[in-house]
Amino acid sequence: MAKILIVEDEQDLRRVLEYNLRQAGHEVLAAGLGNEGLRLAREQRPDLVLLDLMLPDLSGTEVCKQLKEGSGTRAIPVLMVTARGEEIDRVVGFELGADDYVVKPFSVRELLLRIQAVLRRRTPEPDQPDALVEFGRLRIDRGAHRVWVDGQEIDLTALEFKLLVTLYDRRNRVQTRSALLDDVWGIQADITTRTVDTHVKRLREKLVGARDYVETVRGVGYRFVASPDEAMS
Ligand code: CA
Repeated sequence: MAKILIVEDEQDLRRVLEYNLRQAGHEVLAAGLGNEGLRLAREQRPDLVLLDLMLPDLSGTEVCKQLKEGSGTRAIPVLMVTARGEEIDRVVGFELGADDYVVKPFSVRELLLRIQAVLRRRTPEPDQPDALVEFGRLRIDRGAHRVWVDGQEIDLTALEFKLLVTLYDRRNRVQTRSALLDDVWGIQADITTRTVDTHVKRLREKLVGARDYVETVRGVGYRFVASPDEAMS
């Protein structure tokens, strides 16, 4: 089935989870510390990380942030495990890109259902590099680097094109400014995350009728909508 990484410092709970996930047919990796979990995620590339929020070394939110910023681990779905009363951290978990959460105490059955749901809606694979994309009012010819909105061709710089395609390929997932900097610009000393905001603003202006496909996630970054209908409200 799937390869699942459990990051949980409570040994009894970790064992119960390991046992039940194996019974359900999954391959299981387990870590009791955040740093160990990060290392396993980078080395083993699991299909899903089950991440406890309260860990002795790194917080679950920090682990989630690092996973979502690493190019090799960014696409791995994260299911957060929280205790009651951690409402704020729960929100932060989502802003950092956690895909779902369960609140302790939870039943094993509930957890297995959540895991199945998260695995089902994994990030879509990027389209073929030369594919023609039709998304609502937007049309992208990836091979020719041309973009149309409502049938009208718009003029994008090479950087704006790359930014648009990067956001599109990760639609429905929040992209942090620093992740965009890494992937669109490459790391350069003279560039700050403000640059990302400036370019997204300009890209949106050029996208006219399709501008709402790129959403701002306050304090975190940007997200391309999952479907064109989502931007119509
Ligand atoms: Ca814990």
